[in-house]
Amino acid sequence: MTAVFVLVGLGLVTLPTVQHRRLEQLAPQEWCRATATSIRAGLAVLQLGLLFGAAPTLLRAVGIHDAADACHRIFGPAAPGGAVTGWLGAGALGYVVHARWRARRHVRHTTEVTTIEPWLGTHQLTDGVDHVTIPSDRPLAYAVPGPSPQIVVSDRLRTSLTPDELAAVLRHETSHLRRGHHRELTLACEVETVFSRWPQMRRSAALLRLAVERVADEDAITTTEDRAHVRDALVKTATSLVIGAVPAFTSAATILHRIAALEAAPHHLLGLVSICFD
Ligand SMILES: [Zn+2]
Repeated sequence: MTAVFVLVGLGLVTLPTVQHRRLEQLAPQEWCRATATSIRAGLAVLQLGLLFGAAPTLLRAVGIHDAADACHRIFGPAAPGGAVTGWLGAGALGYVVHARWRARRHVRHTTEVTTIEPWLGTHQLTDGVDHVTIPSDRPLAYAVPGPSPQIVVSDRLRTSLTPDELAAVLRHETSHLRRGHHRELTLACEVETVFSRWPQMRRSAALLRLAVERVADEDAITTTEDRAHVRDALVKTATSLVIGAVPAFTSAATILHRIAALEAAPHHLLGLVSICFD
């Protein structure tokens, strides 16, 4: 039974990759929610499976034999191998829990270092969000969540975009803050850390990041004309990426996918610059 939990957990984490073409047919918000739910449930079931498998061995190791026997009766044998399998399960559980903790710590650290201090750049408080313009040669735009949220834009980006394109970028970043996308991005980081040597699983994290960006892209489109503004801003950013000026959080593949979606499906009006936070 515990092996079934582990396999189901891995399957749920992989499911967004297996079903990505079907998921992409959904509205971006539904796509994002379904992907995040599958991954989150998959990690929880995986950890439960490893815990069930390791519990009898761990309990016997500390002398609680009655509870160990009860676990064995309830959950059944973890897998062939007895105590060896139990210890392997305990090790795997420890690895998963520790990797997820490291991922969350990495996100917190990145959030801290990307928060702009009051003395740097220009600050303007609008609707509770600190809009910051920083001096930089890179066309940067990202959102920093937290009790004092920020939207940070470089002066290079401001000068390279038209006012309408810049407004679209700001709506995109505002969407990240308003929808609390840091939760999905933290989850993606956890998957990338836990399965760092497992490309198929990491693909699910990449698709979750893409879904998050597409939700924000769609939120940035408020009028018919905005579609062109969003697309043009994305194309300009992608061009910068190609020539190596932007080590962006958003990968080149993700941006190209979003441009393709923008041009292929009118209801998938997506695109934009986004460093976000990783
Ligand atoms: Zn974004």
